[in-house]
Amino acid sequence: MCGIIGVFNNKRSAELATLGLFAEQHRGQESCGMAVNSGTTIKLRKKMGLVKEVFNPHKLDFLKGHIAIGHVRYPTRGASSIYNSQPHIVETLSGPSYALTSNGDIVNYAELRKELEEKGVYFASSNDGELLIKYIVYHVEKENYSITDAIKQLMKNVKGAYSSILATKTEMYTFRDPYGFRPLSYGKTKEGTFVVASESCALDILYMDWIKEVEPAEILICCNNDIKSIHQNPNDFRETKTNRHCIFEHIYFSRPDSFIFGENVYKVREKIGSQLAKADDLKPDAVVPVPDSSNFIALGYAKQKGVPFEFGLIRNHYVGRTFIKPEQTIRDESVYQKFNVLPNFFEGKKIVLIDDSIVRGTTIRKLVKMIKEAGANEVHVRIGSPPVKFSCFYGIDTPTREELIANNKSIKKIREFIGADSLKYLEIDDLRKTVSKPQDYCCACFDGNYPVR
Ligand code: AMP
Repeated sequence: MCGIIGVFNNKRSAELATLGLFAEQHRGQESCGMAVNSGTTIKLRKKMGLVKEVFNPHKLDFLKGHIAIGHVRYPTRGASSIYNSQPHIVETLSGPSYALTSNGDIVNYAELRKELEEKGVYFASSNDGELLIKYIVYHVEKENYSITDAIKQLMKNVKGAYSSILATKTEMYTFRDPYGFRPLSYGKTKEGTFVVASESCALDILYMDWIKEVEPAEILICCNNDIKSIHQNPNDFRETKTNRHCIFEHIYFSRPDSFIFGENVYKVREKIGSQLAKADDLKPDAVVPVPDSSNFIALGYAKQKGVPFEFGLIRNHYVGRTFIKPEQTIRDESVYQKFNVLPNFFEGKKIVLIDDSIVRGTTIRKLVKMIKEAGANEVHVRIGSPPVKFSCFYGIDTPTREELIANNKSIKKIREFIGADSLKYLEIDDLRKTVSKPQDYCCACFDGNYPVR
């Protein structure tokens, strides 16, 4: 998973893009980068690390220009290395320079890369963003396509998820795959700056005059002081009749203050909690979220049940992501570093502990143990999603199927493994009730129904 930002028509484009990337840091903490158009050339800075470490004011002095595109990376395709970080740039001998940043994952990556390599195109990384830029540049430079036609050609042949921004020295192109897997919004400030971002929370902080979502298969062209939209029928480019937004963006990935796929994320999460509560006859003393991702789900559950919502667990925000640590023992220890119990809170209580998902089972198992050791009488676990049984091929970093606990164990066995007094997951039909257009969602990680392979 990743976050992208594009700023067009502002002398301080790099500063604004940095602010946007800060707001999207939750979408990727491994590396970040920015390409800025200085008028004559595109300057690039990318490094492993967080936005605040990579883009301090001193570094921004170097990145002057009126178009900036940026990226925060959370690796899915390609190893954790600076070569796989974004943006990718291409400088051509004839003069034009291109930069591209993308969020998603390409399903037919290997096949398309081989085709381009056979035509003499060189690849420096194994990242899908590089495939997209090389695909476009090849068609523009070698086959004389316009950039817009090259993007349309890409939509016909590149399968998978991509919410992308391409910058040239004078223009900025934004495009989203025909399924609309990943979120992408854009807006304009009162001063006339166009900004595109994965999530609306990144636009909010830049004081936009208006904000819209980029439609599936839509292409936006920012040129001079204007923005032009090319609306296309997504059905001309896809195998399904409806969109396939990633439901996991609502469950876990996006920030609760974002508006994506036509919904407020926090409201969907509250509805998830309320659906969980409706399907449950438990009467707990307190509802405790696994912070922060499950806060709104637990709130929805507590409101529906009329029981107290309590922050019994405190999260240390300075511990990195436990999920992507390479070894199980390190992941186990990281959970202990990341969460602590409130002293004297759990003693004698019957607790409902709410998390958004169980993937390998690492987090919830440690937390149940911790809460029991803190004196709770009963710990009942409720999960705001159905069992994750299938890997994602569209940009969420799920482990291989073999590592997914729900693929290997029954719910009864998972309950025993995590040591909970009871365990319930959200039913998939109840999950669908939490969004206004359920037919527009991809739930492949739960039902194995992959829209494109
Ligand atoms: P696990 O500990 O392996 O069962 O993973 C589940 C925990 O990780 C939950 O607390 C989720 O909030 C979080 N989580 C779920 N999916 C992801 C993901 N793709 N990347 C990072 N964290 C995740």
